[in-house]
Amino acid sequence: MNLRHYVRDIPDYPKKGITFFDITPILKSPEAFQYCIDRFADLYGESGATKIVAADARGFIFGAPLALKLGIGFVPIRKPGKLPYKNRCVTYDLEYGTDTLCMHVDAINADDKVLIIDDLMATGGTAEGMIKLIREVGAEIVAAGFVVQLTYLDGDEVMKANDVRCDYLLE
Ligand code: IMP
Repeated sequence: MNLRHYVRDIPDYPKKGITFFDITPILKSPEAFQYCIDRFADLYGESGATKIVAADARGFIFGAPLALKLGIGFVPIRKPGKLPYKNRCVTYDLEYGTDTLCMHVDAINADDKVLIIDDLMATGGTAEGMIKLIREVGAEIVAAGFVVQLTYLDGDEVMKANDVRCDYLLE
């Protein structure tokens, strides 16, 4: 399976000069979608992970079926104001400005082993925000898995600086 055939480049989206990598062709193909979930399951089946943490919105698409396949819990991370129960939030730096991510205060515990899943790693800012949220609780991060890595950005360095193992299905 060559996943590259299922990721399409959209020039000038969402802004002029930016190329967006659209993973919806993967979702449209049951074979490609299943391939992603199976590869993640091969990577993390023996990891000891007890929870998958994933960010709104495309992280949910890959994180939730993987959690079911591994038989572990799924924890959604969202922007402020979206989760109904008490929230724990972190604000982190972006290239221009800041962003905030939140999760429910009772979503993970200090004894959880957490697997982060997302569709794509670009600058690593979103992943770093999730790492902060998880580590604040005292939980361990076993790994972070991404369908696509944009290798021309420094996301991998950010993850190394945070001492998190990363895997990419397509680089
Ligand atoms: P980062 O925080 O710069 O690493 O950006 C990664 C986050 O933004 C992920 O949650 C992605 O879903 C989203 N993202 C950024 N660029 C793209 C893209 O080209 N295609 C799909 N998602 C993207």
